[in-house]
Amino acid sequence: MLKCSICEKRDAFYIRRYSGEKLCQRCFARSIENKVRATISKYQMFKFNDRIAVAVSGGKDSLNLLHILSKIEKEYPEASLCAITVDEGIKGYRDEALKIVAENCETLGVEHTIVSFKEIYGYTLDEIVKMTEGKNLTPCAYCGVLRRRALNIAAKRVSADKIATAHTLDDEIQTFLLNMLHGDPLRAIRSGPVFKSENSWFIPRVKPFCEVLERESILYAYVNDIEFQEESCPYASEAFRNDVRVYLNRMEEKHPGIKYTLFRSIERIRKAASDNSEKIHLRRCKICGEPTTDVICQVCKILNELRY
Ligand code: SF4
Ligand code: ZN
Ligand code: ZN
Repeated sequence: MLKCSICEKRDAFYIRRYSGEKLCQRCFARSIENKVRATISKYQMFKFNDRIAVAVSGGKDSLNLLHILSKIEKEYPEASLCAITVDEGIKGYRDEALKIVAENCETLGVEHTIVSFKEIYGYTLDEIVKMTEGKNLTPCAYCGVLRRRALNIAAKRVSADKIATAHTLDDEIQTFLLNMLHGDPLRAIRSGPVFKSENSWFIPRVKPFCEVLERESILYAYVNDIEFQEESCPYASEAFRNDVRVYLNRMEEKHPGIKYTLFRSIERIRKAASDNSEKIHLRRCKICGEPTTDVICQVCKILNELRY
């Protein structure tokens, strides 16, 4: 049996192909936690006294993030951590996830706040899907817009200074390529590990998992016995994203480390572009008063469509 290349004592259970390291379970878990710490400090994601709201869906990545941040938070007595979950109203799917999140929060002693589409917008996603049947947009197109707003509302309710989301390195590079393939390069360079708005209209969002591979996130959950929801959303319409995922996984298989190389290239493009890019001008939505680039925000456009 191969020995771990870090502690040289315990048996290795995983070979990290891009670095050649052979890792035992304990050193592997520690390496992920250290990577998250390094990402947080590299991008200066938090202040020592931040109130951090972790967006927890119930999937492996967000629960891993909650577990790791709750470990790190203990080293910063003035910081505080809470979990926020958006209940879109997807019968048989989100209900199960809510239970899993609640159990994890209880184990960790983290307070948990839920906001629902029904409460904020008057409709569940199931209802919206029925009402918009036969239209061009997919359920995810509605859900994405409404969820972003709901997360912001939840974070304001718990007086959070930052929202932490669990996007992995795979999510980041997939999204970048998807935006490029959809012909939207500006969107591709706009998002990144840290999103801060020029004014205080949006609560800043950070992605402490942006340098963690999805594959290693799954392993982290298993090594630490973290219970998560394995089932995927019944409305997921990710055919295009799946093609990109399969392509990137195949490339990584043949050329270990290529995902990190792509991530670094994207960072350089983003940096070069941000020095020259035009600033986006936000104004208040005429209906709800929330920030938007248009006269009426996306959320109000959807709600108008549903009502009339
Ligand atoms: Fe919403 Fe689509 Fe995600 Fe389901 S897969 S939760 S519909 S964005
Ligand atoms: Zn070891
Ligand atoms: Zn609006």
